Amino acid sequence: MVKTIKNFIGGEYVAGTAGRLFDKLSPVDGSLVARVHEASQADVDHAVAAARAGQAEWAALMPAQRAQILHKVADGIDAQAEEFVAAECADTGKPYTLASHLDIPRGAANFRIFADLVANVPTESFVMPTATGDALNYALRVPKGVIGVISPWNLPLLLMTWKVGPAMACGNAVVVKPSEETPATTTLLGEVMNAAGVPKGVFNVVHGFGPGSAGEFLSRHSGVDAITFTGETRTGAAIMKACADDIRDVSFELGGKNPAIVFADCDLEKAIDGTARSVFSNCGQVCLATERVYVERSIFEEFVSRLAERARTLRLGIPSDPATTMGPLISKEHQSKVLGYYKLAVEEGATVVCGGGVADVGEAYRDGCWVEPTIWTGVDHSHRIMREEVFGPCCAIMPFDTEGEAIALANDTDYGLACSIWTENLSRGHRVAAQINCGLTWVNCWFLRDLRTPFGGSKQSGIGREGGVHSLEFYTELRNVCVLL
Ligand code: NAD
Repeated sequence: MVKTIKNFIGGEYVAGTAGRLFDKLSPVDGSLVARVHEASQADVDHAVAAARAGQAEWAALMPAQRAQILHKVADGIDAQAEEFVAAECADTGKPYTLASHLDIPRGAANFRIFADLVANVPTESFVMPTATGDALNYALRVPKGVIGVISPWNLPLLLMTWKVGPAMACGNAVVVKPSEETPATTTLLGEVMNAAGVPKGVFNVVHGFGPGSAGEFLSRHSGVDAITFTGETRTGAAIMKACADDIRDVSFELGGKNPAIVFADCDLEKAIDGTARSVFSNCGQVCLATERVYVERSIFEEFVSRLAERARTLRLGIPSDPATTMGPLISKEHQSKVLGYYKLAVEEGATVVCGGGVADVGEAYRDGCWVEPTIWTGVDHSHRIMREEVFGPCCAIMPFDTEGEAIALANDTDYGLACSIWTENLSRGHRVAAQINCGLTWVNCWFLRDLRTPFGGSKQSGIGREGGVHSLEFYTELRNVCVLL
């Protein structure tokens, strides 16, 4: 029997009032995973009203009480980890090993870290001398109210809780619109919230699509105080327009076209290993993934052949097979987009070093969304595969001769999310990192994330920073009180 996924409003699982359901298909073999209730405008209105009502009760709790409940939410995710892993893998097709080591534990960690952090953040105060005596100024942090969270499909629970964790820790209520491709784990979280004692209405989930559906209804809703969004840059532009009329605040984590710079003085083994992970992890569907690789000319040939060797050893397969190192793309639509770029790369004259087509993983999976891990050389910045985000398991590699040239190439992009630099000369590592126009630069590593650090993109990769105390800037209002003593 195929499962049905409902909206979660005011602490209850509820059917969509318009009676519309959509199919969620498996990326592994095209089979039906679930039928999902699409939220109507009335359902989104209901969720926003429930959030408004629940927020008052939630904000009235002592921060330590909220923290205790959020720790229970994290413990609840851990306790149901197997169920979360199975649901995430059914929706995305990613390997169990990845979901159980990254997605689900980070989902729990996102509640713990912000629960603890919020309780310990001071605000400023100033004593101001005046002609009639001193005035005391102090700042108060108050929750913003109702936050709309619109999230993508690539790391569903991880990226959604990255926003829901701090929003709730700060005393806000949330209405979440998960991606239509990955409705399961966000919905499952409703159960965990109830069991942890989160007051009804503080956490709500509405399902559906973007334009003309739940995504647009939520982002246009005047009862929502702010929208936090992770997804494509052009979707961010649409949401920004939707929020403009009411001047509602936005926080955006958007697309990227991330470079890696590999200097000849790197530890080559580490650089190959790190770059292979940064290109192929999660089938390349990571916002921080590397799609452009610049390699110093003296090691170019060796780097290309060794990275291709790593690509060929990837084991494409089903999520439950422990030997699987790469799953399929998320959907047929995304597979056509990625294959379109594979075709375009060849038309533009790139050399295919490996891959370049649909991956054959056997007859049973013919209707899945499989593509081959792919590497190109023979490219320059006039090629669209060097400028546009593909969001698949692929990269293009170009040689460079000088440090200045590598920096200029890395910065020649509309995006500015992340960069990796590989060098054993740490002075060079620091010097180059300071000159890359992006939100996050790694030296001799990739995807190492301390959740206390600022996270976000420059240029078309985002607006604002979240992470650690920086999340408070978005999820709270800072008010000044001035008292003449
Ligand atoms: P997407 O923009 O297509 O969809 C994201 C969410 O927005 C979904 O829930 C979708 O239903 C909703 N949506 C779509 N159109 C909308 C509209 N007009 N109004 C309101 N909501 C709308 O993104 P995706 O395909 O799910 O995710 C992949 C993209 O996300 C890539 O570009 C990737 O780089 C980016 N991403 C960025 C980060 C980051 O931290 N910067 C992290 C992960 C993914």
